[in-house]
Amino acid sequence: MRATIITEIIPKEQVEKVRSYIEKYNKIVITTHLSPDGDALGSSLALYHYLFRIGKDVKLIVPNAFPYFLKWMKGAENALVYEYNPGAGRHIIQHAELIFCLDFNVPKRVGDMAPYVMNSGAKKILIDHHPYPENSCDVVISHPEISSTSELIFRLLYQLGEYERIDRDIAECIYCGMMTDTGGFTYNSNDPEIFEIISLLLRKNIDKDAIYSNVYHNYTEQRFRLLGFTLLKRMKIYNDIHSALIYLSKEDLQKFKSGKGDTEGFVNYPLSIRGIIFSTFIYEDENYVKLSFRSRGDFACNEFAAEFFQGGGHLNAAGGEFYGTIQDAIALFEKALKKYEAKLRNASC
Ligand code: 5GP
Ligand code: MN
Repeated sequence: MRATIITEIIPKEQVEKVRSYIEKYNKIVITTHLSPDGDALGSSLALYHYLFRIGKDVKLIVPNAFPYFLKWMKGAENALVYEYNPGAGRHIIQHAELIFCLDFNVPKRVGDMAPYVMNSGAKKILIDHHPYPENSCDVVISHPEISSTSELIFRLLYQLGEYERIDRDIAECIYCGMMTDTGGFTYNSNDPEIFEIISLLLRKNIDKDAIYSNVYHNYTEQRFRLLGFTLLKRMKIYNDIHSALIYLSKEDLQKFKSGKGDTEGFVNYPLSIRGIIFSTFIYEDENYVKLSFRSRGDFACNEFAAEFFQGGGHLNAAGGEFYGTIQDAIALFEKALKKYEAKLRNASC
């Protein structure tokens, strides 16, 4: 096979430390962020399959449920959902010797299990691509310039010399995470090495077209009805400042019998409108109001989210939260827009 050009971006000392921890410890836990997305689950399951194949006692614990269009991934049924079974989750975490923290940068992103993970006596390895990681793990592999944690898992296995051991199941999970965190390779995906890696994954016989269909051609009818309603009735455009807002109240969501994952990706739609570079989606969750932000170009969603909504994320994709009514959340959002008015007005489209 032709030699490929995969730059060894993870420092050798870190790779060796990971190798020694994996060799030394048997009881291993993998965990990832709240509302796991394709990258959270893809990176976690890829590592899960690898560790299982080499004979480790490995468990995957996710803080809460993941959407139905990710359930096809091999091993997804083995993930323990902490929210449904906190006692079992705590027990497993307490007995872990090694914990992998994947696709999150701050402990609060794992929700209620954060104190148990962080106070556990296990060695901890963080592998993530969000900026500003909190340095509370024994090994911190943090690469905000890489578009997905799944790609980092590939790179880690590759640098460990384990490419041969990557099988179809592992390759599928990695590809799914790389695909979903780049919107099907439509943003954050100009690095040629992404495509070198994809070619190495295709050699493991993955069907990338089927993976795309499993995720993006797998929505429910009610999601589409809800999307139509949202774009027609719940979208505000702020033309002068190249911004858009969509919002859904609890009543809206109930009316359309919306389930977990039904609103995933809604925030991206307004970015398809000519001239819009900043899109926000605000919706009422069980106990709080959730916000999702997306931008094109150099407008920093994560700064906006951190300043007004206790949130964070990436330059072009971030999230936050608000405790109060959805009307108050929208009012604060519009106040925040005013503060960022000059930046948004001058943003290039
Ligand atoms: P999404 O809009 O898909 O929920 O999240 C987009 C990005 O922002 C993801 O990278 C996610 O990790 C991050 N993010 C979402 N919600 C929050 C939040 O409440 N706090 C922080 N720090 N990051 C978030
Ligand atoms: Mn990610």
